[in-house]
Amino acid sequence: MSENKTGKVAMEKLVSLCQRRGFIFPSSDIYGGLSGCWDYGPLGVELKRNVKEAWWRSIVQERDDIVGLDTSILMNSKVWEASGHVASFSDPLVECKDCHLRWKADDLTENKCPACAGELTEERMFNTMFKTVIGPVEEEAATVYLRPETAQGMFVNFQNVLNTTRKRLPFGIAQQGKAFRNEITTGNFIFRSREFEIMEFEYFVKPGTDEKWFDYWVEQRWNWYLDLGVRKENLKLHEHPKEKLAHYARCCTDITYLFPHGWAELEGIANRTDFDLKQHSAASGKTLEYFDDETKEHYIPYIIEPSVGVDRAILALLCDAYDEEPDKDETRVLFHFHPDLAPVKVAVLPLSRKENLATLARDVHAALRPCFTTQYDDTQSIGRRYRRQDELGTPYCVTIDFQSIEDNMATIRERDTMNQIRVPIPALKNSLQAKLAGEDLFVLPEGGRIWKEEKR
Ligand code: ATP
Repeated sequence: MSENKTGKVAMEKLVSLCQRRGFIFPSSDIYGGLSGCWDYGPLGVELKRNVKEAWWRSIVQERDDIVGLDTSILMNSKVWEASGHVASFSDPLVECKDCHLRWKADDLTENKCPACAGELTEERMFNTMFKTVIGPVEEEAATVYLRPETAQGMFVNFQNVLNTTRKRLPFGIAQQGKAFRNEITTGNFIFRSREFEIMEFEYFVKPGTDEKWFDYWVEQRWNWYLDLGVRKENLKLHEHPKEKLAHYARCCTDITYLFPHGWAELEGIANRTDFDLKQHSAASGKTLEYFDDETKEHYIPYIIEPSVGVDRAILALLCDAYDEEPDKDETRVLFHFHPDLAPVKVAVLPLSRKENLATLARDVHAALRPCFTTQYDDTQSIGRRYRRQDELGTPYCVTIDFQSIEDNMATIRERDTMNQIRVPIPALKNSLQAKLAGEDLFVLPEGGRIWKEEKR
């Protein structure tokens, strides 16, 4: 019955659930919002940290050949001149002669204003970098840009990283951080924003080995989504035709996702050749070459760059995890988040607020919270509390009932199967850890028992 199994969950449903449950709010909400900007609520911020953490672990911490970096958002403007952004980071725009709304020329199917059907101007290029100024007196101050990507910070630190880490090719530099683009058309929730976060890395390779590494990274990045539980049928590779490539790229493949508004780019993997290091070397006058000890040659490495927006990845993960099931006269709404991504891992639910039960439940909660992100909930009926945790995507609930006081056992209830197992309270932590790590608890702890939750 999952809506998304056949492709799509309605965007309005997702936006409203995200707002209602505290995942994502419009920015400056009480003032009517700010187009293209979003705020992450208490659950959203946990989800976002988990997505970034999962990426960082797989790209930096579990590998020997990639190191991390965190560069400034504001950079010397010469960076953006050398990179080509000042000249060409732009979109073709048309303006309506009647209502003066501006439209991205590429998005229009007809040669008239979509808002008022008015006549449109000729196309004009519009630079999408945000400008600001540095210095106390505005007239004398220098113009700087808010970075539209994090990549340039990694290119200009190539020698710093090489000298300090003594890495040999192939090796990479990875970074996560805010990026800003004055997008002409925003929309589709967090798919395209003006302020967003990016996770990308630059993988430096010997020229001639670039095609092999390009293919390697397309496969690795594709598998990362599958490992996080994204359904294969909602992912597709799209190879950019040569004539549509960005000025710096030799080839580019997108991992696309079936979003509610259709197939669209989730992550881009580009072979940037030696373009960036050559440009910065020429503009700065600093050599950005690599000395190959084996062949005794100096050369500028080629770069393979996988780049994905954190927010866009979150949108794909939300869509993919969303599910609805009939539940007697109601509907059970749930997010099947991968345990590594779920904002709350374990909810502790005492069956009643009675003093002796509450004391035990609070003790259990205190013992679990150093190990997991937890919630304690003692409001409403247990059925409602399970449904609430389902809507947050919490993989496990621990229920403390009156029997628990007698036998020192608690119930673990599983989100996806609604199976329940009863385990000794001292074994809770290990059992939950094993379950969150994906192990099936076929071997129950001594005295354990398993059954299926009754639908309400
Ligand atoms: P698009 O064609 O969708 O605008 P792009 O080709 O300009 O994207 P890149 O410059 O390759 O995108 O950026 C790398 C990644 O950053 C994209 O794959 C996407 O996940 C993310 N991204 C780019 N622009 C935005 C945006 N305005 N809002 C959210 N994420 C974005």
